[in-house]
Amino acid sequence: MQVLKTKGLVLREVEVGESDKIITVFTEEKGKISISAKGARKPRSRFIAGTQVFAYCDFICYKGKNIWNLSQVEVIETFHSLRNDIYTLSYGIYAMELLETIGVENSPSKQLLQLSLHTLWQLAKGDLDPTLVIRIYEWKSMSLSGFTPAVTQCVGCGKEEHFIYFSIGEGGVLCKECSHLDPAADKISNGTLYTIHYILASDLKSLFQFQVSDSVLKELSKLSKKFLHYYLDKTFKTMSFIEELKTLY
Ligand SMILES: [Zn+2]
Repeated sequence: MQVLKTKGLVLREVEVGESDKIITVFTEEKGKISISAKGARKPRSRFIAGTQVFAYCDFICYKGKNIWNLSQVEVIETFHSLRNDIYTLSYGIYAMELLETIGVENSPSKQLLQLSLHTLWQLAKGDLDPTLVIRIYEWKSMSLSGFTPAVTQCVGCGKEEHFIYFSIGEGGVLCKECSHLDPAADKISNGTLYTIHYILASDLKSLFQFQVSDSVLKELSKLSKKFLHYYLDKTFKTMSFIEELKTLY
């Protein structure tokens, strides 16, 4: 019998039958996997805490016919304080949705897992604007998944300065002379360009150590949305919900 011992972060939980759950977990050893947790919804189940969204745990599973079956789970961190605020909760759920979208089965990435955990910690701590935290997560996680825009050289001519446009389709910045390559390219300010560059170039330690102006955050958010939509071909329901929420308050 194949046994899997791994750390992992619960991205999603789905109720099955009377008292079971199937959870989607981004694991250190195997990337994204589904795990069946029998009886996890029974009031006295030993699986309750470790099978909720955001739970970061040590899992022991054995391989069934089509799915992993949960045998033991020990919680390392629940990120419970994310649930105290509708924004941090929604941003957290969105981060898990994004990870589920870019995470691949049998393609583990310790870097992506660590980035995701740091993002949840940052959201839970509340030192930085959660919108900025999530923008950082988007650009960095996309980059770790192979979508890294060129931000130091014009994608048209290779020039290393005077960028005016950001072309999502061409995959990076354009100078004035090359702007004809993509009529749909967005104008980009130096502040936003520098921010993206900083995010792509920073390691985990310095990644969440900066602030930006409201105008940069706004421009960055607009670009992020387009960038994700273009490369993932997906609209995230939770992000639409957050945007709606923001118009109400
Ligand atoms: Zn150029």
